[in-house]
Amino acid sequence: MFQGLGDRLEVIFKSLKGKGRLTAEDVSQAMREVKMALLEADVNFKVVKEFVAQVKERAIGQDVLESLSPAQQVIKIVKEELTELLGGTQSKINIASKPPTIIMLVGLQGAGKTTTAGKLAKLLSKQGRRPLLVAADIYRPAAIKQLQVLGEQLKMPVFTLGQENPVKIAQAAVEDANSTGRDLVIIDTAGRLHINEELMDELANIKGTVKPHEILLVVDAMTGQEAVNVADSFNQKLGLDGIIMTKLDGDARGGAALSVRKVTGCPIKFAGMGEKLDALEPFHPDRMADRILG
Ligand code: GDP
Repeated sequence: MFQGLGDRLEVIFKSLKGKGRLTAEDVSQAMREVKMALLEADVNFKVVKEFVAQVKERAIGQDVLESLSPAQQVIKIVKEELTELLGGTQSKINIASKPPTIIMLVGLQGAGKTTTAGKLAKLLSKQGRRPLLVAADIYRPAAIKQLQVLGEQLKMPVFTLGQENPVKIAQAAVEDANSTGRDLVIIDTAGRLHINEELMDELANIKGTVKPHEILLVVDAMTGQEAVNVADSFNQKLGLDGIIMTKLDGDARGGAALSVRKVTGCPIKFAGMGEKLDALEPFHPDRMADRILG
């Protein structure tokens, strides 16, 4: 992940550093190369244009070119703007003032929703929460079983009512959490291969009934700009509180992660870094920018 982009930026910065003093044209040339590198990493075109314009304005507009280490200053600006692009500061999840906190996971089939439900339960239980996993994906064959297996591995309860109406399942799960003292409800909702009205209506009904504190979209980073389109649609139809980007351990070029915040306005809150249950990390924009810049 970000390997190609990181390598490209390294070469661009090396050549800047080799120049000593910099002219406005040197900066413009470097920014043209940064623009190409970002586009090749599959970052949204509009996002790239704004990003490069912003860096250029700051780099040429201030006293950067007159400073003792102009290349370092330009690199610093790129890092700051990359951090901004990734969301600025870390966005945490909303915890309910009166438990249970209800988290609804939404997303397309195959994005990693069910696996992420287990990972999130594990991560938040380490922070002292007592999760109840809820199987509300009643359409995908084996989704309920998959969650139950995860629950067994994690030694955590899984709430299911079989193929019952998902709204009823979610409602009953919250009551169950109340009576059994679980302070966190994680609802694994159904996904489809494509976004459709039926799916959105069902999710909107669950939202309207249980009033989750967090609606988190699980998207697959490997799908690139399609992930950004999916996030935009879900956000418009449902209103998202955040995004969990999965498969960041894969060889995705990074375009989805770098575009989604700017395009949708929704922060990435967690990153999936592998198939194992402990492969979920809170998303830190500054650390991710560091990773990209090496
Ligand atoms: P769902 O249909 O959205 O519930 O998707 P699943 O949870 O069944 O996941 C689909 C596949 O993606 C499974 O093989 C998961 O192991 C895999 N997966 C989920 N998250 C990640 C991740 O962060 N990295 C990798 N490499 N694989 C993941």
